[in-house]
Amino acid sequence: MLKQHVRITLGIDKQTPSLFHSSPFRMAPLKQRHLSKMGKIMERKALVLFSGGQDSTTCLAWALDRYSHVETISFDYGQRHSVELECRKVVLGQIRAKFPSWAARLGADHILDLASLGQISDTALTQEQEIVFEKSGLPSTFVPARNLLFFTYASAVAYRRGLTALVGGMCETDYSGYPDCRDNTLKALQVAMSLGLDAPMVVETPLMWLDKAQTWKLAEQLGGQPLIDLIRAETHTCYLGDRTHLHSWGYGCGECPACELRRNGHEAYTRTTAA
Ligand SMILES: [Zn+2]
Repeated sequence: MLKQHVRITLGIDKQTPSLFHSSPFRMAPLKQRHLSKMGKIMERKALVLFSGGQDSTTCLAWALDRYSHVETISFDYGQRHSVELECRKVVLGQIRAKFPSWAARLGADHILDLASLGQISDTALTQEQEIVFEKSGLPSTFVPARNLLFFTYASAVAYRRGLTALVGGMCETDYSGYPDCRDNTLKALQVAMSLGLDAPMVVETPLMWLDKAQTWKLAEQLGGQPLIDLIRAETHTCYLGDRTHLHSWGYGCGECPACELRRNGHEAYTRTTAA
């Protein structure tokens, strides 16, 4: 019994990343640390939860800038609009075509069929329903446990593929209040996955404390105007799946909460670049 306790304790100390690290700036454990001249972590491999939206595309660029090998994963769970799944193919193709140094690091793309999540979700993302705020205070786009399931499935794929980090675009700054996007939820999940797999499984959330304007700024820092242009034209955010109206901030209906957030963020970002 005592031996088991010691083994688990050592597992936490040596293999599980600290609960209290700030994700974007985390250092690898001492033994694994191997920094390039730029001080970036170069030897580790990441799996990016990549939906084809603005946030996950920025996260993909962030990971490609830091990791020596990056793979992508998405989930098909009967979303009302498959626009995002189409957009992600285009984004991946353009990253390969326009960013040669990133293309060399960009590996396999995985799409998992999670039809069962659609079966157990009665939400505005999977059913033809109007987006409203429920009594709980959450919008009707909330798919219960979605991120918990996504990360858990992603960790299984990462384990098989020899990838030790999962990167996601979750954010607490100007999000819809989804409890499974919260930093503490994901840190707890990181510990649970690392223990459950008996292998390190770091959860990276580079956008966690950024607002939408800062997310645009991060994209600019990572990939300059070509990445800004790619995100504007090819990524998708609109809840209604509108790909016919092009605005300065990208395609969308311009009315739904996702479009509103994206528009406001882009306007704030534009003001900072004009200043
Ligand atoms: Zn919209």
